[in-house]
Amino acid sequence: MCLQELRAEIRPVRNLAQPPPSVSPPPLSRPQSRPSPAHTTMYNHIMPRSERRPDDPASFVAGFVSNEHAATSATLSYDEYLRLVAADPYAASRTSYQYLRDAITSFGADTVKDMGRTFPRFTVFSDPFFGGQKRVVGQIRAIAALFKHIDACAKQEEDESIYILVGPPGTGKSRIFSLIEKGLEEYSRTPPGAAHTLNWLFREKFEMEGEARGLGFRKFEDLASETESYAHLPEDEIFSKVECQVRDHPLALIPRKVRKDAIARVIEQRVESLKRDLTAAAKEEVSRLRALVVPQKLVEAELCRNCQNIRDRLLELYDGDWEKMTKHVQVTRWHYSLEMGRGIAEVDPGVNVETELSPASHDENKSNLSGLLRGIRLYTFHGKPASANRGLINYQDIFNKSHQQLQHLLSAVEEKTVSFGDVTMKVDYAIFGSTNLPENRLLEEDVLTEGLRDRIEQIQVPYLLTFTDEEQIYEPNVREIRKSQHVAPHSIRVGALYAVLTRLRTPGLADYFTAERRRMQQFEHDKAKFESRKFLLLRQEEVIKRMTLLQKAKLYAGDLGWINHERADLLTDAFLSAIREEHRGAEGTSGRSPRWFKRILGRLSMDENNRCINPFQVYAQIQATCDAETQPLLDMVQEDYNRSVVREVEEALFEVTEADLLRRVEGYLEHARAFVRKESVFDTFQKKNVDPEEFLSREEDFLDLAAGSRGDYRVSVVQKFGKAAVAAGTRPNPRDAVPELFDRYRERLYRSVRDKFNFQAFLLALERFDPAEQDPFDELKPVPGPGSAEKAASEVGRVLNNLRRRSAAAASERAGYCNDCAKKVVKYVLTNEKTRGHFLAGK
Ligand SMILES: [Zn+2]
Ligand SMILES: [Zn+2]
Repeated sequence: MCLQELRAEIRPVRNLAQPPPSVSPPPLSRPQSRPSPAHTTMYNHIMPRSERRPDDPASFVAGFVSNEHAATSATLSYDEYLRLVAADPYAASRTSYQYLRDAITSFGADTVKDMGRTFPRFTVFSDPFFGGQKRVVGQIRAIAALFKHIDACAKQEEDESIYILVGPPGTGKSRIFSLIEKGLEEYSRTPPGAAHTLNWLFREKFEMEGEARGLGFRKFEDLASETESYAHLPEDEIFSKVECQVRDHPLALIPRKVRKDAIARVIEQRVESLKRDLTAAAKEEVSRLRALVVPQKLVEAELCRNCQNIRDRLLELYDGDWEKMTKHVQVTRWHYSLEMGRGIAEVDPGVNVETELSPASHDENKSNLSGLLRGIRLYTFHGKPASANRGLINYQDIFNKSHQQLQHLLSAVEEKTVSFGDVTMKVDYAIFGSTNLPENRLLEEDVLTEGLRDRIEQIQVPYLLTFTDEEQIYEPNVREIRKSQHVAPHSIRVGALYAVLTRLRTPGLADYFTAERRRMQQFEHDKAKFESRKFLLLRQEEVIKRMTLLQKAKLYAGDLGWINHERADLLTDAFLSAIREEHRGAEGTSGRSPRWFKRILGRLSMDENNRCINPFQVYAQIQATCDAETQPLLDMVQEDYNRSVVREVEEALFEVTEADLLRRVEGYLEHARAFVRKESVFDTFQKKNVDPEEFLSREEDFLDLAAGSRGDYRVSVVQKFGKAAVAAGTRPNPRDAVPELFDRYRERLYRSVRDKFNFQAFLLALERFDPAEQDPFDELKPVPGPGSAEKAASEVGRVLNNLRRRSAAAASERAGYCNDCAKKVVKYVLTNEKTRGHFLAGK
């Protein structure tokens, strides 16, 4: 074709003689040479790549994916991999347990003190992945126990076992594991979480020559002269790539007999190179490396049967040249994934765990290779253990399976091997499980064989014993109910506290006191110490004798309000811990479940006419289920409820707040201290120093103190406060330090307003007020009038508004009272026989 012809070829189809398309549009089917205006508008948001701006969504996504890919992938030759090992021998030589521990701690942790003991609290269990929605509530002790085992296995201080979370349904057992699994997935995408495995690569040339000659690998010498790794071969030069299906550890490629030595040499080299560096960080790393122990599991690790076969065949072909064999090895990063069955395996009760082996005939890469490496047999491994390798396997409801089905766990945990029919594979994974079966059932003959039973470690995951934690369990339910109904304050508390009370056991602490008395004998020569010890134990015994279950529940929740300040020093760590441990294994294994209370909430929210779920309804629902044994527990809940609402209603009625009280008490304390020290007090109004006497006698008139005892009273208050400050090591809250003065102020303040309060008129007006007539959260605006009825109505408005405002200030409006429940609670407090006296006759 000459140039002219070519030009003719590319000349536009339409020539000038034809009418332009605007005059006579071409038929629709004909391709248009230029997009119509409509067409342009419709697609003009699709820009060529080069014209895209950086904030374009596609660029944004593409940028993210490419950064993510760069940050989380790696393709290395075996040589390069060994350099990586040299840079951080610990990270590269981790076992499944070490990796697991690092993944859990990588999200951060703090410590928390609970009943005399300190526990680690790991952020990963607060669910950093879904904004806390799937967090584990409470269970600090169970998680700490599980972590202790994981850590001990990581340090090779403990023989690996099958770790089973034992507890009733709904206690968060499966959440604990699913957050560990999510943690593994995320951690393996971070730089410190890099985990590697290997692939086998073969060049096309390699195969062609073999095939062409029909002589297998006779021509191998040609190839053997090449030493460069195939790891970075371009895709089109790779003839066959075999990925290790069970993610073998690349270090397992080093022969077992010299593996430990080889890794030790790598570590030694690293130490030598660091020695030249004089920084503190380098020194620290040296000491870390010196302490590093190559894990036994890694020393004994073996490649899977496929990798073994390929390795052996290549070594044979290369005449035992290990380095030449490794040029076929490509090391890559892999990521844990439950969905893909990589390093994480979940076994549902219904799923078959059985392992199976099949010839890899359907796998093109592998069958290619079978032709390539003559006589080699390659398999595909089936089953959860193949997925679990280098991570964990988790058996949900583990004893739902017969012991025959679980028998394979014994070799997995003891020998670290799993049998796939003809082939036995060395594995490295943690074995977890959970069960709802009570502990004693596990010891029965038919559930477990003896060998297996010996390898099981149980970790108790009981119902929660802290009612404030228990309340959090119901948060999702409350959120759901709030879409259509109001949930009055304390409604959830009533249910949560009752449920916790049904789980608690009465404290006795006989063992603790016996042991402490015995220990006391060692101080016999030290009379003072002996006596103070004896006195402490006597007073502790007194506390235990009187302790109600409600007080125990408060103690578990860290609320010490029930014990007066002078006795708080009795709550030593050893004492608290003894109380908490006394019924370990029993407390929280029976009693009401969270599901039970969820059902009650469900029933209450079903009733469409019920605009507001309140504690009285919850109480009635619970009472319907009570018997002689549990009624006293519900009475305790009511007692606790009464105490809270009396204060709330008091404050709404009389507008005496805790802050007011505190101010008055602080003022009195300041002046009494000056009185005792014979000092003056600076008066901010008069702007000069004044004698405290005038202030004190005015307050004491108000407090109704007998004239003759006032001097002593001032001294005793100051002393008490000073003692409390010494005991606390800091300035205590006057409410705890001088509760008597606090209560006296409260009572006098209330009495002063109560005396002017007309209860009968108020109750009548309250009865007349119908909250259904308006939005439950609208401010009440009663019309003020001269008559006593109008006055009472405006009083009702004031009190209900106060109650709503006060409770709403704490959280969102919906967390406070609505007009409906505000009315009910005020009426309850003013008419209930247990609370009414408080208002009519004083304390
Ligand atoms: Zn393998
Ligand atoms: Zn309400």
